[in-house]
Amino acid sequence: MSLLAIIDTDGIVTKETKYGDSSRILTVITKNHGKISVLAGSVRRGKSGLLTATALFSHSRFTLFKSGSSSLYKLNEGELVNSFSTLRESLEKMAFASYLCEVTNSIVQEDAEDTEQFNLLLRCLYLLSKDDANYEKIKAVFEFRALTISGMLPNLSCCGKCGSVSDISAINPYDGSVCCRNCLSDSPSSFPINNSILAAISYISVADEKKIFSFNMSDNAIKYLSELGEKCVGILLDKKFKTLDYLRRVTALG
Ligand SMILES: [Zn+2]
Repeated sequence: MSLLAIIDTDGIVTKETKYGDSSRILTVITKNHGKISVLAGSVRRGKSGLLTATALFSHSRFTLFKSGSSSLYKLNEGELVNSFSTLRESLEKMAFASYLCEVTNSIVQEDAEDTEQFNLLLRCLYLLSKDDANYEKIKAVFEFRALTISGMLPNLSCCGKCGSVSDISAINPYDGSVCCRNCLSDSPSSFPINNSILAAISYISVADEKKIFSFNMSDNAIKYLSELGEKCVGILLDKKFKTLDYLRRVTALG
């Protein structure tokens, strides 16, 4: 006997793949059901609203069906909340948004509620879509906050070797710790950090989700934070992100 499940959920389209002649399979990060795969059949004329609702980066309210043991949801209705259309109109915005989506897709599990990661992605896409977006800051905050939510952020409270809380001067994603100046030689695979970088990572990890961007840093420090963020994300998720290579090619042009 096959059971039919119907769900209504907010979701963000984070990936689309062609399927057959006219269908697509969407990866959607939902507010209440984690990551899901959705079969979006061909869209008939007069239903162009559905096309916008299912476009890459769109935030929409979906009504979905799932039958029996199939892991694939079928799209019934999609009502657009925000199309984030500017993300598809600029190479740079597109590159940053694609990277945030790829990282989120690899963190959020299938059918496992992860509202915090959904909210984080939504907030970051919103900021990216604005005219005055600080791309590297959005990326860096996203990276360290995503690691915090998923429980992977290195322990920042004291040196992982000797327990000292002063002179913290490196972060080591390989063993999930930070390291003081005296122990640096015991932690060769760590990355150097100064007090202001440590303070920024700490702030991003503990701030209320609405306030994670409320700190100021020089452009150079933000750039370093962003480089550190992508190293930590790559090492801790044990993945090379194709969208990051693309992003760095695009930013090199600017
Ligand atoms: Zn130490």
